[in-house]
Amino acid sequence: FDQRDGWIWYDGAFVPWADAKLHVLSHGLHYASTVFEGERAYGGEIFKSIEHAERLRHSAELLDFTIPYSMTEIAAAKKATLEKNNLTEAYVRPVAWRGSETMGVAAQHNKVHLAIAVWEWPSYFDPEQRLKGLRLDLAEYRRPDPATIPCTAKAAGLYMICTISKHRAERRGFADAMMLDYRGFVAECTGANIFFVKDGVIHTPVADCFLNGITRKTVIELARRHGIEVVERHIKPEELATFTECFVTGTAAEVTPVGAIADWHFTPSGITHQLMDAYTAEVQPKKQAA
Ligand code: PMP
Repeated sequence: FDQRDGWIWYDGAFVPWADAKLHVLSHGLHYASTVFEGERAYGGEIFKSIEHAERLRHSAELLDFTIPYSMTEIAAAKKATLEKNNLTEAYVRPVAWRGSETMGVAAQHNKVHLAIAVWEWPSYFDPEQRLKGLRLDLAEYRRPDPATIPCTAKAAGLYMICTISKHRAERRGFADAMMLDYRGFVAECTGANIFFVKDGVIHTPVADCFLNGITRKTVIELARRHGIEVVERHIKPEELATFTECFVTGTAAEVTPVGAIADWHFTPSGITHQLMDAYTAEVQPKKQAA
């Protein structure tokens, strides 16, 4: 992935894609002092760009560092990176990390770097599986207790268990894994939030120990706008037998139907399809009023 054409915004300047490098003694690499975002541009506009920039700053603050750019500078840099790469439909990946000035757990004075890459990424999950509904495995690891990690940060360190879980799921023939939380309630997938439907009502886990996705919040708002009741509550895995539809949400995944989780089966239908369409309409850039 590092030998492509294109430009990466790196600490305020554009560098050729293949030259966007960092030192092996970077603190971010050794101690996971790294935060990032995942965003999508539709028709040349990044959906909720400022909200993503704010989450990036929030994540950095939780890891005790400050990104040396303002929200508007970050938003402008993202837009400029899209334009520099001639992309209108793209995935956008800002990443901020502590540099290599000192080596050790403490790194108060290490420089904070920011890079922004953009690339085409049409479908997060295999399009055929996406259409049929994903098959999800159950992850071995659980989302940790918020008392043990800053769970609202989109921080690299929190993805270690996600990568392990997704690898294991793929090896076992599944598209992804659903994770429980530290209490044993349903939490989310390795890179997306999860929703269920029963009797025309949407049920989704309370985001009290995992990322409250920007897509999750958007979909909840869209559902309510369409008159669909959404209940955020603690969901036990054995309740999965009572749900008829299931879908996952995320910037990359958008709204993706789920066909099965372990031995529980779902039929992606009415509400899932309605929200897939509503989300597709919502992310299109709004025409400016004349
Ligand atoms: N949970 C995890 C672990 C994720 O990586 C993502 C993707 N950023 C989400 C949820 C969904 O977040 P969003 O809708 O903001 O992309």
